[in-house]
Amino acid sequence: MTDSIWLQDMTWEEVQETIETSSKTILLPFGSTEQHGPHLPCGTDTMVAMTLAQDAASKTGVPVAPPLWFGWSPHHMILPGTITIRPDILAEMAFDIISSLHHHGFEKFVLINGHRIVNITWLQIAGERAKRELGVKISIFDPAYMSKTLTGTLGWGAVGHAEEIEGSHMMYRYPDLVKMDRAIDNPHPKADLYSVDPSYREDTLCYVPSSPGEMKRLTLKSKGTTGEPSKATVEGGKIYHDHLVSRLVQVITQLKSKA
Ligand SMILES: [Zn+2]
Repeated sequence: MTDSIWLQDMTWEEVQETIETSSKTILLPFGSTEQHGPHLPCGTDTMVAMTLAQDAASKTGVPVAPPLWFGWSPHHMILPGTITIRPDILAEMAFDIISSLHHHGFEKFVLINGHRIVNITWLQIAGERAKRELGVKISIFDPAYMSKTLTGTLGWGAVGHAEEIEGSHMMYRYPDLVKMDRAIDNPHPKADLYSVDPSYREDTLCYVPSSPGEMKRLTLKSKGTTGEPSKATVEGGKIYHDHLVSRLVQVITQLKSKA
């Protein structure tokens, strides 16, 4: 039996065994490949989902499916390294992944979204369809929603892009890929009746990906960053990571215990 929690490292016999030992539970990391400012790698969102999945899987004995490295990123097409896939294609792909795994016996799925907020719409569409057509259990785990109680206590600002939240997490988990000396701060502009951050307490409109014109202004100002990456620390990254892993373990444990 392999020690790996990754499905792609297992033989089919090992996969068959893990369907039973995991109470038919599996983690699905979803991310993106898109610009993350001058200081973070384009794969940041996928790497974040992978490292959370890996650590929670090791603690709970559930397997992890291969990550989907692509997300819905039209607003980041202004800079190279970005690959955007249409959300209807992504929803179909997520459904087919779940459907294939279900065909062989998996019944409980945790969709881990590293491309915070933006991937949720199509993951919800795929998740609803899977619940209705396959009768499976689906949870969507998004770090932005699952760290609302924590990020303020670390002195961090709102969810943005390649900001101190992602910067800290990457410094802790993938230090060799971070070039913090290249980072440019770009504090959140004050916008009336609008915030992306799920922990925002005021009345707000809902998120819509930015237009090319809006993104052009952002790239001229900060080379693609919204937020203050200079506030990123390894220590904060560790606290954030451990918090998310413990929450993910909670979600998996609850799901495993369900009939
Ligand atoms: Zn990101």
